[in-house]
Amino acid sequence: MKSLYIHIPFCKSKCYYCDFNSYCGKDDLIEKYIEALKSELKEINCNFKTVYFGGGTPSNIPSKYIIDLMNEIQCDGEITLELNPGTITKEKLQDYKEAGINRLSIGLQAVQDDLLRRIGRIHTLRQFEEAYNMARSVGFNNISVDLMFGLPGQTVNDVKESLNYLIKINPEHISCYSLIVHDELVEKHPDAFSNLPNDEDERKMYYLICDELKSAGYVQYEISNFAKPSFESKHNLCYWNQDEYYGVGAGASSYINNVRYKNIDSVEQYVAAVINSQNDYQVVEETQNPESKLKEYMILRLRLLDGVSVSDAYDRFKVNVLEVFQREIDKLVNLDLIEVEKDEHIKLTKKGLDLANIVWEEFI
Ligand code: SF4
Repeated sequence: MKSLYIHIPFCKSKCYYCDFNSYCGKDDLIEKYIEALKSELKEINCNFKTVYFGGGTPSNIPSKYIIDLMNEIQCDGEITLELNPGTITKEKLQDYKEAGINRLSIGLQAVQDDLLRRIGRIHTLRQFEEAYNMARSVGFNNISVDLMFGLPGQTVNDVKESLNYLIKINPEHISCYSLIVHDELVEKHPDAFSNLPNDEDERKMYYLICDELKSAGYVQYEISNFAKPSFESKHNLCYWNQDEYYGVGAGASSYINNVRYKNIDSVEQYVAAVINSQNDYQVVEETQNPESKLKEYMILRLRLLDGVSVSDAYDRFKVNVLEVFQREIDKLVNLDLIEVEKDEHIKLTKKGLDLANIVWEEFI
């Protein structure tokens, strides 16, 4: 079975650090966009393993559209919707629940309102708290919360405060991403990116996150993701396991039959092309051969703390990765970036978690 990603590119306003395919001020396109998504979904017409509504801000559009889309989808597994606390009401949450959404991913990023303002988030901690409590009261029992570190003006102590708060409210899943500074965004919002933490503090923040969440009963299962046992994101695991998925909507990617496709980013062009039944809204980004597929598998699986299973790789590719990549593995083991456990699991070491880019480069 395949997974499904649905991209909702509409946001209330643009966060200063955001380079996702998302737009504000295009709400007049929402209705046509949903029609286009429904047409794309009709073409696919299958039973999905997991579904993920991402964005953009899925919670920014009226919930009737989410219900409409859910009516087009068959899935008995995990169905996640991303929400921004500045866009949510109890009625919307009830609609999501009734429509079959069973997991929420809420963007908090930090508990300090001044930090949230500084990066252009539209909500306060209080609004997050209201959204979170409403979600619980409506019956959502699988909630993920996003945190960011390395933010401008953020201290290690600020991260500690955010962690303390999250551990207290006890979501099932926490994602922690380091701010990526894009040059063109710094040019646009120079003030928002001044006073960034130095590398040493940024690493301290990451170690603190790993240690504190582990002590609180979360399992780190991927470089940036932590979950209570059995609450790992099934949808994201599908990407890291190199499983097949469809992506619908502007800018969405799909991976089917060893081919990676991408839809065009422009909402207007996507809507026009789908509604006029033109198929030029999708381009082939990569057609994999067995060698490129195996290399990608290594890179994706090494993001997971479980790492590459030699036997799983053999089942999929009919090769022994310890032999195929003997030179790369020896080099990385000598650098203390990966370890091989019992000839079965190839995993990042603690140092490798920090320098994962160097590890991936060996498999490109
Ligand atoms: S809410 Fe998310 S998608 Fe929208 S602008 Fe902010 S970071 Fe980007």
